[in-house]
Amino acid sequence: MDRLSTSASLMIVSDLDFTMVDHNDPENVSLLRFNALWEAYYRHDSLLVFSTGRSPTIYKQLRNEKPLLTPDITIMSVGTEIAYGESMVPDYGWEQCLNLNWDRDIVAQETSKFPQLIPQSDTEQRPHKVSFFLEKTESLEVIKALSERLEKRGLDVKIIYSNGTALDVLPKGAGKGQALVYLLKKFEADGRIPLITLVCGDSGNDAELFTIPEVYGVMVNNAQEELLQWHGENAKNNPNIIHSSERCASGIIQAIGKFTLGPNVSPRDIGDFRKCRIDIFSPAHEVVKFYLFYERWRRGEVEKSDQLMQNLKSSFYLFGSFVQPSGTEQPINKCIDMMESLYGDKQGKQYQVWLDRVTAAQIGSNAWLVKFDKWESSGEICLTLFGCLFCPL
Ligand SMILES: [Mg+2]
Repeated sequence: MDRLSTSASLMIVSDLDFTMVDHNDPENVSLLRFNALWEAYYRHDSLLVFSTGRSPTIYKQLRNEKPLLTPDITIMSVGTEIAYGESMVPDYGWEQCLNLNWDRDIVAQETSKFPQLIPQSDTEQRPHKVSFFLEKTESLEVIKALSERLEKRGLDVKIIYSNGTALDVLPKGAGKGQALVYLLKKFEADGRIPLITLVCGDSGNDAELFTIPEVYGVMVNNAQEELLQWHGENAKNNPNIIHSSERCASGIIQAIGKFTLGPNVSPRDIGDFRKCRIDIFSPAHEVVKFYLFYERWRRGEVEKSDQLMQNLKSSFYLFGSFVQPSGTEQPINKCIDMMESLYGDKQGKQYQVWLDRVTAAQIGSNAWLVKFDKWESSGEICLTLFGCLFCPL
């Protein structure tokens, strides 16, 4: 919450499964396109918020399996848990709001009377969320009867059915939409309300995100019927909500372009970096570009030429160095020499490099310290932590 001292230029609030993450795309092409765009252009002055139905346990599992960036804020368990930063500091104020008129034991008693409700795993049962699997064909009838029973017991609850399979019972004031409203109020109280907010989703539990006034919204191309139907009935005349023609994270990039919210060409979409110069020098952009070139070099996807290497050394990185976590520095020229021998060693392999948490600080008239986490995957994901000091010509 405190990373930025002023209003974020853009806040993206995105669901994860089948919105940010395409589980049908084993190479994570669209997610990596989004990552490069975010780190090159947005990380320094914008906020990334993940809003997921996942509990903390299975959210962390997903982060180990997929090349997800570190969000500034994580909203989990269908808007019932909010956490800040890398260390995921919980928002206790939000938990207290949710205690209002909520009694988990009564929910457990009443739901146990429905044999159609199959409890989800223990990790998914949370202080303010009780979760089940439920067949689509039985969903309408069960939801109606359960609502009546809980109302009779004096509880204010919200029942959300998603993906045609999952049913969550939450306090009335919970949910992805309410959690976002709470966050926006907090920002407003600090005088730091984001200039623009874009919400992104694919299923029923995301619908609430699209009801918040003055936010832009994208339902990704692969959105579930339940969300599209909700949109048709409730929001079809809202020009700030689109149904993208691209899947998952590529749909988010498409929405950034459609609403002209900022740069929308991912550095991953640039074939030849020599032709890619931006108007204002940005160290984050340069570092993202460098590692994309590094990935392509090792995959043997760029032409092997001494000239290219010379250009790389002489143009941007003449006096630069890499800073290891230990503090030791290694001249960038030396690293590029080493890189030369790695040409094509990952050819034909699923080798990917991405950066996370890129921050840049100007430490001299022509010197920048750029910090970032560099991740590599050759099937298994591993972290090589690096910073880099460089002095562009
Ligand atoms: Mg989803």
